[in-house]
Amino acid sequence: MKASRYNLFIPIQRSDTTLGFNCRSAALVRFSPEEMELVEHVLSAPDSDRAFAELPAELQNVLTESAFLLRDDEDEIEILRRLNHRARFESAHLGLTIAPTLSCNFQCQYCYEQGQTVDMLPETEDALVSWVAGKLENLKALYVTWYGGEPLLAQRRVRRLSEKFLSLCHRLNIPYHAKMISNGYLLTRDLAAELKALHVDKVQVTVDGPEKVHDVRRPFKNGGGTFRKIVENIKQVHDLIRVVVRVNLDKTNIASVPELIDVFVRDDLYRKVSLYYGHVMPYSEFCADVSGSCLAVDEFARNEVLLELKLFKAGFNAGSYPRPRSGFCIADSATGWVVSPDGKVYKCWNDFGTQDAVAVDDVVHGQTEAMRLTLEKWLGWDPFQKKECLDCKMLPICMGGCPYLSFRFYDGTRGSCPTWKYNLQEILLLAYLRSEVKKAETSVARAVQHVISHAVADEEETEAKV
Ligand code: SF4
Ligand code: SF4
Repeated sequence: MKASRYNLFIPIQRSDTTLGFNCRSAALVRFSPEEMELVEHVLSAPDSDRAFAELPAELQNVLTESAFLLRDDEDEIEILRRLNHRARFESAHLGLTIAPTLSCNFQCQYCYEQGQTVDMLPETEDALVSWVAGKLENLKALYVTWYGGEPLLAQRRVRRLSEKFLSLCHRLNIPYHAKMISNGYLLTRDLAAELKALHVDKVQVTVDGPEKVHDVRRPFKNGGGTFRKIVENIKQVHDLIRVVVRVNLDKTNIASVPELIDVFVRDDLYRKVSLYYGHVMPYSEFCADVSGSCLAVDEFARNEVLLELKLFKAGFNAGSYPRPRSGFCIADSATGWVVSPDGKVYKCWNDFGTQDAVAVDDVVHGQTEAMRLTLEKWLGWDPFQKKECLDCKMLPICMGGCPYLSFRFYDGTRGSCPTWKYNLQEILLLAYLRSEVKKAETSVARAVQHVISHAVADEEETEAKV
């Protein structure tokens, strides 16, 4: 037997407990001091097979099932490499992000699409459906993310395309799933019901702080506020469609987040929506002017922990947890594509509408040689060629991070390290805290149920005697 290279052990200060986490299985296990002594012994023993055989059976199961211990002949990097290759080149799912328009009714401070107004034409819509039908051959599911601009400004196009995709998937007897990234301003209850019928089961809406902060960062085109309308819409639709609230953070709004959380608690939304924090980055020239206010990844990571703790204390159904992944995003998958309203196909969401972005295909005019070479560049992105990534414990939960950032900002020895690199221990401690509270709630609920059923039985017995 041998120790996994992806083990982390976190002693909990002022307690006798140690948490063990394995980045490949994502198992989080609590060890008592006696168990930890045995675990340390078996992980470092020269004759680990013998040390393992002497462990109590329960501990043996925990260590092997959670992948803290492996057979000597298992090569973890090779296993990950194969998973990654399969996810990239052998996925059975077609994943599309489609912008039916680049128009938007907001004028966000950090927007990189900067007032572009390209809408999808009917002939592009037809060409897109044929292109999708071709790509779906031999695949087993279609996933669409509606994006923009603001996709609800192109409702008719979303409706028509959804109906065509549904009928295509019906004909092929494969499932169709969709979600939407919207600013939430036009998301009425009727519209949410209609989206749901078109298989859109989740909408992500951005709220960047309490009213006074959000309205400065995400004003309407005419400068008016948008916060109240968005929050009202969330209240109207959350029982019809799953709502995920994204809060984009930079130096200028981070201090106001606790106030936003208080608003969600006051409005009784905190158990009805999920909320997560997004990191505003200087992704393109268009938003280079916000680079001075962007948080560095380690700064963002520190704040993320504090703000997740705030969410936990407020009672939100939220909190991140590192999961193993086989690829990173649409950009490193051979079956993932981003389609702009003019029919150009890209590999990355950041390429929408940016001047220097290079398409990898065109649903109307077909793929050129230059596009094919660009596609090769994206699909050639490989964290297993990066020395720091190969030596890094985070590899199974990170897979080299965002390929776009890596191409743009890093030097080739590593990918773009995500926040886990800086806050994994704290995030795991928080996850443990959440699970303990949940367990306590469940056992209290069980105890209450037990007391009630006994009380009811006693009462029935008394009645029967009378
Ligand atoms: S490459 Fe990065 S920015 Fe582009 S889609 Fe993937 S995660 Fe997003
Ligand atoms: S990108 Fe950074 S965190 Fe991710 S595997 Fe590479 S070195 Fe580790």
